[in-house]
Amino acid sequence: MRCEIISVGTELLMGQITNTNARDIARELFSLGIGVYYQTVVGDNEKRLAEVFNQALKRAELIILTGGLGPTDDDLTRETVAKVLALPLEKNRVWEQRLQEFFSRFKRPMAEINLRQAMVPRGGKILLNDRGTAPGIFLEEKGKIIVLLPGPPRELLPMFKEQVIPLLREKLQEKGNLALLQSKVLRIIGLGESAMAEMIRPLLEKQDNPTIAPLAKGAEVHLRLTARGSSDREVEALLASKAEEIKKVLGDYIYGEDEEELEFAVARLLWQKGKTIALAESCSGGLLCHRLTNIPDSSLYLLAGLVTYSNEAKINILGVDPAIIAKVGAVSTEVAEAMATGVRRLCRADIGVGITGVAGPGGGTPQKPVGLTYIALEAEDFKLCHRYEFWGSRLDIKERASQSALHLLRLYLMEKLKKME
Ligand code: ATP
Ligand code: MG
Repeated sequence: MRCEIISVGTELLMGQITNTNARDIARELFSLGIGVYYQTVVGDNEKRLAEVFNQALKRAELIILTGGLGPTDDDLTRETVAKVLALPLEKNRVWEQRLQEFFSRFKRPMAEINLRQAMVPRGGKILLNDRGTAPGIFLEEKGKIIVLLPGPPRELLPMFKEQVIPLLREKLQEKGNLALLQSKVLRIIGLGESAMAEMIRPLLEKQDNPTIAPLAKGAEVHLRLTARGSSDREVEALLASKAEEIKKVLGDYIYGEDEEELEFAVARLLWQKGKTIALAESCSGGLLCHRLTNIPDSSLYLLAGLVTYSNEAKINILGVDPAIIAKVGAVSTEVAEAMATGVRRLCRADIGVGITGVAGPGGGTPQKPVGLTYIALEAEDFKLCHRYEFWGSRLDIKERASQSALHLLRLYLMEKLKKME
């Protein structure tokens, strides 16, 4: 089934908002094996919307329109679609009542224009909306499926997932061409893309269902497995068994799946091992702390995250020796280590982390270029400091510093780092 998504809104054309609706819908459709062939954006203009919709009727079997279902004059989607399809608009009693209840609950008079939202092209089904006043509309006409959805993502997304997807699934099943597609992502750290591809070459060469696609993502590599089949169970089993095969080869290089970021893997290990941690960050500006505190219950292991940006803060708060800073500078192994030691002692944590670097874009020298970063870990019987040269913008450098610190922490917690000293 070919799909076209038509996003309606002048704000979209002008770049004032990003078309996240089209992206999110396309993503969801993928799981049903429905290909989105076109995504069109058109302003709040009846003539142009009619043109675009007519064109979509020629080249797609499923047409999803988003936006322009509101009560005001610039909301034209419902009327334009009905006009192009030559269908009369009929009042939907259920929704009329919903609107009346809605307005009386909020003690607001209902204007006549609000009733437009209860109008449905003949033959259309309404899609309930408990987060707004515009229902969606599901319509089958001239062998096409046409879906109208409200613009606000918080209304559109639940409606799409809970109501449209099941309906589409039913239609595909009726036609006997339900081909489900599902992906699983394996997240890999500590291996480059080509080294990883080399390790799993036999699997990559004989891939079929699931397919396996490697993808470099910053400091990580992702492997996207995509399986197709006619039932959820079949697809899930295919993915699980291929993931097992890959795990046998890549082992601990795989730290997580799907949306699970590296901080999840570290948090899980800290939690399992019952270790507490304290952070002293300079160039990463608290990003490591931010990432670790994104995880529920991080207070179980994270004691503190200090952003000690100035030399004075490093000296006065963490107890870094000013003589060391004077001698080797704030961006150095010695200072990273002293930061880790200082914060660990200050917070009585099992593990201390120190991060110091040159975030740029100014301030670099030939000896200490922009991106130079030291990350130190300290625990009771353990001490280590790594030197990195990151590149990119300030934000890239912060991102890479936090990522590398998490990588080091994960290796340490899995007892994969050599003891130093
Ligand atoms: P309303 O009843 O709020 O007017 P509507 O169905 O008429 O809803 P629009 O007026 O087109 O929808 O858009 C309302 C708001 O929804 C926009 O201001 C924007 O915040 C959001 N929105 C609309 N279209 C999109 C889109 N394609 N992607 C992301 N957000 C969108
Ligand atoms: Mg509107």
